[in-house]
Amino acid sequence: MAAHSPFHYIFNTPARFNTVKAQQIKIRPEIRRAKPTIISATLRAAVVGGGPAGSSAAEALAAGGIETFLFERSPEAAKPCGGAIPLCMLDEFSIPSNLIDRKVTQMKIVSPSNLTVDFGKTLKPNEFISMLRREVLDSFLRSRAVGCGATLVKALVTNIDMPASEKAPYLIHYISNNNRNTLAVDVIIGADGANSKVAKAIKAGDYTCAIAFQERIRLPGDQMRYYENLAEMYVGNDVSPDFYAWVFPKCDHVAVGTGTVCSKQNIKQLQAAIRKRVKPKIEGGKTIKVEAHPIPEHPRPIRVRGRVALVGDAAGYVTKCSGEGIYFAAKSGKICGEAIVRASENGKKMISEQDLRRGYLRKWDDEYFSTFKFLDVLQWVFYRNDAGREALVEMCGDEYVQRMTFESYLYKKLAKGNALKDVKMAANTIGSLVRCSIVGRQIDVYRNRVCVGEY
Ligand SMILES: Cc1cc2nc3c(=O)[nH]c(=O)nc-3n(C[C@H](O)[C@H](O)[C@H](O)COP(=O)(O)OP(=O)(O)OC[C@H]3O[C@@H](n4cnc5c(N)ncnc54)[C@H](O)[C@@H]3O)c2cc1C
Repeated sequence: MAAHSPFHYIFNTPARFNTVKAQQIKIRPEIRRAKPTIISATLRAAVVGGGPAGSSAAEALAAGGIETFLFERSPEAAKPCGGAIPLCMLDEFSIPSNLIDRKVTQMKIVSPSNLTVDFGKTLKPNEFISMLRREVLDSFLRSRAVGCGATLVKALVTNIDMPASEKAPYLIHYISNNNRNTLAVDVIIGADGANSKVAKAIKAGDYTCAIAFQERIRLPGDQMRYYENLAEMYVGNDVSPDFYAWVFPKCDHVAVGTGTVCSKQNIKQLQAAIRKRVKPKIEGGKTIKVEAHPIPEHPRPIRVRGRVALVGDAAGYVTKCSGEGIYFAAKSGKICGEAIVRASENGKKMISEQDLRRGYLRKWDDEYFSTFKFLDVLQWVFYRNDAGREALVEMCGDEYVQRMTFESYLYKKLAKGNALKDVKMAANTIGSLVRCSIVGRQIDVYRNRVCVGEY
């Protein structure tokens, strides 16, 4: 994978898009005059952010004949992440199996009262959840984009100037090797994560973020073997008032973490609580890394403006309930890149906001709007209090519920249900909620008594 120096762009870019020093921009009239002759030249795109969203977008663009610049501020860094991806992503994005650290075939979900359900009973012999290190996955996807013709620019994008007219270029200002530079482009894909600069530049509006906190812990041999192909999820007000805590196996360590929206100031206490719940299993382990990062809770109010589109976390594509975002990042990047290729007829003509709305937003919303909404509702019903969480874990013991959940997660298609079993599942859900509201109240009473020292 080659990162180029700023000189590369000065000598390798068409005259109409000359790359110039940022401070010169205001005094160089040719930039303001730059009106792309769109029919004869190749469309130029900047993708800001080289995570799964950005790399997939850049790959689609470059493979489709668009001149593509992929900006990544730190290609060697590892994004704080659990690294779990669904089975369908391996095929759809041709991810080689040697990138996978662990194939999870067992999953335990543990309730506030410590009811433990084996959630992986219905997995078929060839089914598993892949666990990868993000530094490995991201670097692979970026290399592939470069292989398709994208230019990787190791640089921090600092700000973006909007075009002076409908067909004038956008100006991307960036710092590379301590030098300030500017690149003029026709189209921008903002794949720069939850703190997106591109979103700010187009005034895309804010979204609520959860904070996720994670410790990577290297365990002694036997304990590591216990987690070899096992992932654990813990629910309870103690570990997260609105999400879940996890132990995920990685190559030579486990990731132990938690997340919350409503109690960010207490994140360290919540982390201490998950450590307490898994204490016997992680005792003697060595913490090798502590990390935290925001996770968007909702799509942004605006995801496309002019010839700029947001994808992945920058757009807000992380599902509630599971906190899953890698697949949706890669998929949104790909859909958006392909939409630009189609609308520009392989880079031969300029595109419009309408093209991005039709080719990207509409396709995305048609495919995933209902999945995101459904998981929103599930989170609202089951993660609000310990009664709901007890009901959730109880229901997870049902094989039909497990099969439907895994089908939807692993293959990203709404699983085909059985009408009779669906009715039974609905009845069981209500039964569990009623029963567990009693258990939940008892847990609260117990906790209050512990607090006042009765036990
Ligand atoms: C602790 C934690 C655990 C998670 N676990 C899972 C999980 O197990 N499975 C799952 O599916 N999802 C998980 N997620 C969510 C997942 O990490 C994200 O949804 C996913 O990374 C989104 O990909 P992205 O490409 O949109 O953004 P990111 O992966 O955030 O990539 C953005 C990239 O842009 C770069 N960048 C940012 N600003 C600039 C700039 N100004 N200039 C240049 N480059 C810039 C960054 O360096 C980064 O490489 C987890 C999240 C967290 C925080």
